[in-house]
Amino acid sequence: EISLSNCIRKGNNKYEIYNEKYEPHINIESIEKSIESGEITLYYQPKVDVKSKKIKGVEALIRWFDEEYGYITPNKLIGFAENTGYISSLGRWIIRKACEEIKELNDTLDQRIDLSVNISPYQLEDEKFLNDIKDIVKEIGFDQELLKLEITENENMESIDKIHQIFREIKSTGIKVSIDDFGKGYNSIDYIKNYNVDEIKIDKSLVEYLENNPLFIKSLINMIHTTNAYVVAEGVERKVEYDFLERMGCDFIQGYYCYKPMSFNSLLEIIKKDTI
Ligand code: C2E
Ligand code: MG
Ligand code: MG
Ligand code: MG
Repeated sequence: EISLSNCIRKGNNKYEIYNEKYEPHINIESIEKSIESGEITLYYQPKVDVKSKKIKGVEALIRWFDEEYGYITPNKLIGFAENTGYISSLGRWIIRKACEEIKELNDTLDQRIDLSVNISPYQLEDEKFLNDIKDIVKEIGFDQELLKLEITENENMESIDKIHQIFREIKSTGIKVSIDDFGKGYNSIDYIKNYNVDEIKIDKSLVEYLENNPLFIKSLINMIHTTNAYVVAEGVERKVEYDFLERMGCDFIQGYYCYKPMSFNSLLEIIKKDTI
């Protein structure tokens, strides 16, 4: 029977019947155990500055290598956390861990890199969201100006006005706002038209479309630049794509062509080479 206990929250007072679509080994207890044991960690994917060819920053990406069940994708892990309301708690762990590690790295560098953390739209619904982040960042001593939140629009998002207000609040702290996966799914032009965000990430699907219609992508980059946001291209796998994007004035590039996501230890290694 349908009752609140077998429904999961989908935001904006929408509910969906919980149909056990998650494997039973993905549960809060197993997640917490894996965090404890180090089977859940953060990987980092560098973002390359097209002008200087140097690493400008990194994006934290959660990884779960379970001893028993193997690799569990972020989409499964984050999806589970979103649907059970565990995302706020997991999200705090992610921010804390990422800030701690990147602070440790930055303390060894002359030129500090910035840190992007993915935020689920469900986290924005938590009243305490921004205060929690401010507390964590302060406690660790991480420079707020170096932190960027990557937000993806989804179909259950709060009203445009509410999001606008949340973005303003985030920006007033010095923390930066990035729109992830732009050009895919639900992202609308409203986002880049009105929000004064710091960065737009062009989705991999648009990067793949580049060779079909370069002028379209060039115009998109120009359009984004009129809002003063930086443009990052995601999922760049080939030299031809990199070269196109460079000529078109794309600011930053992320993708396997430059770097794959890597462990914190690998990041420490490659950063040293990059900054010499
Ligand atoms: P995203 O934020 O758009 O991250 C980019 C995804 O593309 C990552 O997948 C990355 O590994 C992958 N990628 C990067 N370059 C390339 C490339 O050149 N080719 C291909 N084929 N893929 C590339 P990943 O790590 O599996 O993460 C998937 C999504 O899960 C992320 O998409 C993000 O939405 C979510 N996610 C990952 N980590 C976190 C997290 O810590 N918190 C939250 N809330 N979401 C996360
Ligand atoms: Mg992202
Ligand atoms: Mg993305
Ligand atoms: Mg993407």
